[in-house]
Amino acid sequence: MTSWSGRDASTWNQAALDFVHSAPVLDAALQMEGGSPLPQSIQRRAHELGFTTARLPADRGGYGMAMVDYVALLERIGQGPGALRVFIHGQNTKWEMFERFGSTAQKRRYLPTFERGEWAASFALTEPFAGTGNDIATRATPTGSGWVLNGEKHLITHAASAQVLIVLAQHEDYGVSAFLVAPDTPGVSVTPMPELMGTRGIELAAVRFDDCAVETEALLGVAGQGLEIGLSFLDITRTALASSAVGLAQRALDLAAGHAATRVTSGKPIARRQAVQIKLADMEMTIRAGRALVSDAANAIDEGLSARHEASIAKRYTARMVTDVTDAAMQVLGGIGYTAQSPIERISRDARSFWFEEGTDDAQAFVIARTVIGSLASPST
Ligand SMILES: Cc1cc2nc3c(=O)[nH]c(=O)nc-3n(C[C@H](O)[C@H](O)[C@H](O)COP(=O)(O)OP(=O)(O)OC[C@H]3O[C@@H](n4cnc5c(N)ncnc54)[C@H](O)[C@@H]3O)c2cc1C
Repeated sequence: MTSWSGRDASTWNQAALDFVHSAPVLDAALQMEGGSPLPQSIQRRAHELGFTTARLPADRGGYGMAMVDYVALLERIGQGPGALRVFIHGQNTKWEMFERFGSTAQKRRYLPTFERGEWAASFALTEPFAGTGNDIATRATPTGSGWVLNGEKHLITHAASAQVLIVLAQHEDYGVSAFLVAPDTPGVSVTPMPELMGTRGIELAAVRFDDCAVETEALLGVAGQGLEIGLSFLDITRTALASSAVGLAQRALDLAAGHAATRVTSGKPIARRQAVQIKLADMEMTIRAGRALVSDAANAIDEGLSARHEASIAKRYTARMVTDVTDAAMQVLGGIGYTAQSPIERISRDARSFWFEEGTDDAQAFVIARTVIGSLASPST
């Protein structure tokens, strides 16, 4: 079995389960439902346990975990409140943007932030008045000594607490480029978004750029490379999201099975009724299918192959699966499951988020269909 810093994968996984079910995390989940952000103490503890630096290479102060082991870890983290997996996964992804595309100075400045476990970077792509990709409306106008940014982003995770925003903007003559902009730069205003339906505790913000001047060093990668930078991490982020969805679905099944074993109607536990057994069996089957799809994508990533197709399949399947499973779990719990103090109520709201993060359900379908149609066009490949 692979070992990461002397701990084998099952030890990491058990530590993750112990953490997400610990009293401080359960307490934090309640606070977040009440409108508080993910507590700093929980962020620090997640870092001390090594979760925020699981994928960061050992020579950067992390554990350099392979994707197959990381998704297993994230599946356990995914059993907890949504804000926790968003935080842990965000830290495990963004460093790579600096490692792969950053200049020496940018690496020196930002990579140590990840090692310290502070929220380093938010990725600002989505816009309120334009689509993504080449449709982005935020503009970067050259000034000679840098650029001036104008435009608006929204739904940006932890934008206010980030050290830096990675902002995708239309760059005259080049297409889309990525710019590093600190949230306290003059001309940047960060406004909290309305409370989310689920995954409470992540602070989404809208970000406006009004004649925001940035210097030449703000360019990440080369001019026109913005979309490539964004797209090159989708395999990892979509696979990771899918693994969190599997974890949340597993938690829903565990709650449903536990309830079914103890809830007695007409003289016997509902777990002995075939109608309930069929629900539990379907939940188990689809969770396992989701886990297998995540594993396909994670293996491809570890082998250095493109996993765009596999990651989109895993993401689309598990987003649907986790909403179906949590819905079925609520049904098994009966009316008590629909009350605000029932954990399945929070889980059901968290589950819906998977349909939007890292691209909608439909966006995944377009990626999958492209490969299917492409393979029909050239059947020998
Ligand atoms: C919890 C959470 C965290 C997020 N964090 C971030 C973040 O950190 N950074 C960031 O940049 N974004 C973030 N987002 C935004 C997220 O990535 C987007 O909401 C998502 O990609 C969908 O984009 P949109 O909201 O603009 O929807 P739209 O593009 O407006 O889509 C609306 C609907 O139209 C469909 N649609 C859109 N275009 C087409 C088309 N060409 N053909 C057919 N159908 C189409 C979509 O599938 C969808 O059903 C976050 C969202 C959530 C919920």
